[in-house]
Amino acid sequence: MILPVSRLGPDGARFEGQDPKEVLEWPPSPRDVVRPAGPMRWRLEAQLFGTELLVRGRAEALFEGTCCRCGGPLSRVYGDEVTISREVAPDETDVDLTSELRESILLALPNNPVCSDDCRPPRPLAEDAGEADDGAASPWSALDALSGGTTHEQPAPPDAPKKPRTRKPKTRRS
Ligand SMILES: [Zn+2]
Repeated sequence: MILPVSRLGPDGARFEGQDPKEVLEWPPSPRDVVRPAGPMRWRLEAQLFGTELLVRGRAEALFEGTCCRCGGPLSRVYGDEVTISREVAPDETDVDLTSELRESILLALPNNPVCSDDCRPPRPLAEDAGEADDGAASPWSALDALSGGTTHEQPAPPDAPKKPRTRKPKTRRS
């Protein structure tokens, strides 16, 4: 994105356009979960105060790949608001903002992209649910109360290795 500062004044001007996705300089890798699938789009408002250039707006691009949660196809636009402030030399007519816009898009990419905000994994792990996190009393607790507090332990399989529990002494809390 090349901004023509020579045509700018304090009243500012709006710019809208796009650059080919190659400006995102995405290194091709087979391990990529997502990759750019469309141009880098930008919508900016630029003002020049003396020698200080102020640019505000938004940059974004379409990405495609695989959803990290359900494994299905992913096609989403990622981007962010940008605010750029830069000193401009008196003889400077054009300012290249490509790297700033590219950076804002790359920083907006999530570590684990999902196909939509309400994507759910295909098979919920039902066997894990209801064990400890639901707050319901264990069926053993009623028996424990009757028997005077005897704890019921599940017998371990005979060949199960017993892990020694190491407990680090707490030295201090900071
Ligand atoms: Zn998904």
